[in-house]
Amino acid sequence: MAAIDTFELPQGWRVETLWPAVAQQSLAWLQTRELAARDAVLLLPFAALLAPARAALAACGGWQPRVETPLTLTASLGPPPVAEPGACQGDAVHDRMAAVALLRRQSWGAAWAQRDAVAFSRAAAMVADAAQTLRETVCARPPALRKALWAQARAALPSAAGPAATEAALLHVALEWAAASAPPATDRLFDLRPSAWIALQIGGPDAVAEALLDHAGTPSLRLQADRPADDPWGPVAVGVDIERLLCADFEAEAQAAAAAVVSALNAGRTPVALVALDRECVRRVRALLDRAAVPLVDETGWRLSTTRAAASVVALLRAALPEAGPDAWLEWLKTWPPMPPRTLDALEALWRRRRGRHDTVAAERLWDEAQIQLQPLTKAGPRSLTAWHDLLQGQLARDGSFERLAAEADGRQLLAVMGWQGEAPWRAAAAQVQADLPAFISWVETTLEIAPYLPLPAAAAPVVLTPLARAFGRPFAQLVVPGADDLHLGAVASPPTLITAPLAAELGLEDSATRRHRQRLALAHLLRAGPVTLLRRQRDADEPRADSPDVEWLLQVRARAGAPACGLRLWRAPTCERACAVSARPLPSAATALPTELSATQLESLRQCPYRFYARAVLRLDEPDELDAALAKRDYGNWLHAVLHRFHAERAAASGDGVDDATRLQAAADAVTLEMALDAGELLPFRASFEHFVPSYLRWLAPREGQGWHWQSGETDHRLANALLPGLQLRGRIDRLDHGPEGRRQLLDYKTGSAQALVAKVKQPLEETQLAFYAALLGGGEKLAAAYLALDDADAPSEIVHPDVHASAETLLQHLGSEWQRLQAGAPMPALGEGRVCETCEARGLCRRDHWGAP
Ligand code: SF4
Repeated sequence: MAAIDTFELPQGWRVETLWPAVAQQSLAWLQTRELAARDAVLLLPFAALLAPARAALAACGGWQPRVETPLTLTASLGPPPVAEPGACQGDAVHDRMAAVALLRRQSWGAAWAQRDAVAFSRAAAMVADAAQTLRETVCARPPALRKALWAQARAALPSAAGPAATEAALLHVALEWAAASAPPATDRLFDLRPSAWIALQIGGPDAVAEALLDHAGTPSLRLQADRPADDPWGPVAVGVDIERLLCADFEAEAQAAAAAVVSALNAGRTPVALVALDRECVRRVRALLDRAAVPLVDETGWRLSTTRAAASVVALLRAALPEAGPDAWLEWLKTWPPMPPRTLDALEALWRRRRGRHDTVAAERLWDEAQIQLQPLTKAGPRSLTAWHDLLQGQLARDGSFERLAAEADGRQLLAVMGWQGEAPWRAAAAQVQADLPAFISWVETTLEIAPYLPLPAAAAPVVLTPLARAFGRPFAQLVVPGADDLHLGAVASPPTLITAPLAAELGLEDSATRRHRQRLALAHLLRAGPVTLLRRQRDADEPRADSPDVEWLLQVRARAGAPACGLRLWRAPTCERACAVSARPLPSAATALPTELSATQLESLRQCPYRFYARAVLRLDEPDELDAALAKRDYGNWLHAVLHRFHAERAAASGDGVDDATRLQAAADAVTLEMALDAGELLPFRASFEHFVPSYLRWLAPREGQGWHWQSGETDHRLANALLPGLQLRGRIDRLDHGPEGRRQLLDYKTGSAQALVAKVKQPLEETQLAFYAALLGGGEKLAAAYLALDDADAPSEIVHPDVHASAETLLQHLGSEWQRLQAGAPMPALGEGRVCETCEARGLCRRDHWGAP
């Protein structure tokens, strides 16, 4: 063991002085000790620090030491030795799988797995976590010391009897598994013989670097950039520029952070670090920055399970479950390559019992094909995880999903994690685990949950989203830190649940005080880069949030030193132009993307709010209904429409068959119930209203027919192309058209809503669009009248007549024509945010009505 020289970097170092000091001090020490600089190695804790260190050494000229992290240096030595199958490797997916196989081999394991599969799989996850931590801790020490360390660990194990006997038994298994694991790839570093090891300690000691310094038998220098635990801040706490923002809630905090980033960019302070203390919050900030077209590098890694690729694979598996329903099928069909969107719309309309013009024959044909695709998975009985894995792979290859996944960045990472590209290291262990389809789905979900996803960085991005432990020592011109509260900055992760305190102490496992010190050092070093914006919210749901204890300590240090106060400022709204864009009212235009057909409902939404129309008709974002929900009022409306149509159509066709109208109406109701495959039990309350409706309807019908009015047609589709509407056709389905005396006609629109609302509607004939729209479709004419027929009012049916539908239809065509030409010329489609329409609007989340900034 050689003596280690230590050099303390100046207490007040800043990022711009750190790297020149590291370079000069390393070279000076090598020269004093007469060691060859070109054969020395400078070790840094993480890869993002390599570039500034190398640049500073290059600026000094002459021979330079090699600059690496323990991991990059290990990687330069070639591929790591292949681990024994089933050994603990530090790979999350493999180790969980191997832990399941390991526990099943215990005398009590197989019975436990049979008895309680959920608890067993939780236990396997705990064993994997504990074994990885033990392996990582012991293997960071020099190889020569490990045998003794494992012996000490065994001596510190709790007794496998008493109340925590199960946990103790699991810990025994974890420890022996970890002790038998292959040596880590970094062990090869102990065979290297550089002229000197130099290690920069910044943000806490690096276990592997310390072991190399301690035991390599080579001259060593430790450059100390950290401060002691009782004063991590040092002089830098006083000189730094800190802004503290208090935000009302999660969304406000995300918007404030996005505004702070954009404000720094506008002021030319780049690069900007966005520090990920609160992963949820920074994901939202990231989305806001995406919307403001700010390029960003994400170094944090999301969970693979949050990607579209993962969602598509899980959707396929869930759709194959025997108990799956239309919601699960639709979720999968949206990702199934052979399914064209229009056919999917038709299928969805069919399942949701929506009225409209859809090619349901094609939809049903494709659904038959889709079911054939699902069958191999649905019908497969219990089998090994390897067999499931191969079955799923074959399924994805057959339907073209494999190709699609390989073409996307998240898909490629999914294929690698699932072992479909290259060899899966866990196959041997997986072959020993039996599972049915739900258990296989659960394994796939867990695998995707623990695997990270690193999005491709945007080229030359000025914003870096990075964890706190990788944010310091780097030349950032502005640091934005959302989540600087008592939950996200101050609390540290607990060690794996199986590891007891005596065992942790025996192995020198980092305790919570050490982890807190690391976090505090990272925050202190962060302040050495540039201005920092710390943000926190007032509350999370019902729970109030407070300042981080570390921030409070920092403020006390500043106050004692007489530094300017940096009080908490309440954040209200973005202050710069680009930031305002983050929460401004949307103002899209769709000159070239306007639909070529327009329905009455779409026209209504255009008049209420152009943005709502944009969402519905241009983006085609209809709100999905709950497919599995019980029969709703709307279903009753559709049913009643169909019953009346069938009644009148059959009545017109069967002249003088002797069936009375009440019987015919009831028979039509039964036939439609059967045809629409409605649950008679669920329809029961509606059938009770229908019993009351039948005589009322016939009482309304008889005098009407006495006056010469007769049902002519129903549920007819119409289209209108008009010179006033270039490039646009109106389309719609008319509930009913009656012919009357003297060649008169009347269109009737059945309604199951409130009759009073309809009365109010027709009192403003120029505002009413639906009847005018249908009248226009029918070609209008002065002999055409129009009325709503309210069907489930207390006095139903009640006829609410439009006073002058002919004039309204003409006005509608003229106004729509000029409005459409404006939109075709690129006129914006603003979100109006006015009136009661916003209260029930399905596009409210899209237009962000609740988050608009100052007007
Ligand atoms: S919520 Fe209001 S402003 Fe937003 S799209 Fe709907 S109607 Fe328009």
